[in-house]
Amino acid sequence: MTKKIRLIDIKEEILSENKGLAEKIRASLRKQNVLLINIMGSPGSGKTSLILKTLEEIGSNYKIAVIEADIETMIDAENISRINVPVVQLHTGGFCHVDANMLEKAIESLSLDKLDLVILENVGNLVCPAESDTGALKNIAILSVPEGDDKALKYPLMFAVCEVIVINKIDYLHYEDFNTEKVMENIKILNKDSEIFRLSCKTNEGLEHWLNWLEKEIKDASS
Ligand code: MG
Repeated sequence: MTKKIRLIDIKEEILSENKGLAEKIRASLRKQNVLLINIMGSPGSGKTSLILKTLEEIGSNYKIAVIEADIETMIDAENISRINVPVVQLHTGGFCHVDANMLEKAIESLSLDKLDLVILENVGNLVCPAESDTGALKNIAILSVPEGDDKALKYPLMFAVCEVIVINKIDYLHYEDFNTEKVMENIKILNKDSEIFRLSCKTNEGLEHWLNWLEKEIKDASS
């Protein structure tokens, strides 16, 4: 006779618990008219650079706070704090992503009612952050040209769950075999409603499309 084995699917349980808390966070953000965006991407894709550039360009028009998530170190938080915006550093202690529980802890230390925008820089990788709903209102993935044009196909979940995809470092297009049209086509297959912005934080090319989108979202969230 086969012994009965009880199977407990911990992953399912944790994910559904996380989803519940993420919905609660989203409801609270909507109530307080704050836009919270979650920026994801590989290490070196330009997450911190895009945040710095965004703060430089529109930072004086809005009340903005930044949440920096890293396995350890304060390097990005220190860079951001030079611009004089409130920064919260989340140390995930080895975890490869931010979950709703961690985000709730981070926003507890911010005065949300006094803010227009909160930017979360997630831990750098294209896998785990895509699996975990943080409670953010908008999810953004950055793919930089030097990473190669096969990444949307290799990490499909990330490109399927994000409303916005930023193709960054387009100033590298002269040096790399990066087929932008093909990448955009692949992204659209995974998520036909996604918005794709092509830009360079170095030359500012294309930056206005990202900023226009973000400013519209801030306004929509505030009303
Ligand atoms: Mg960074």
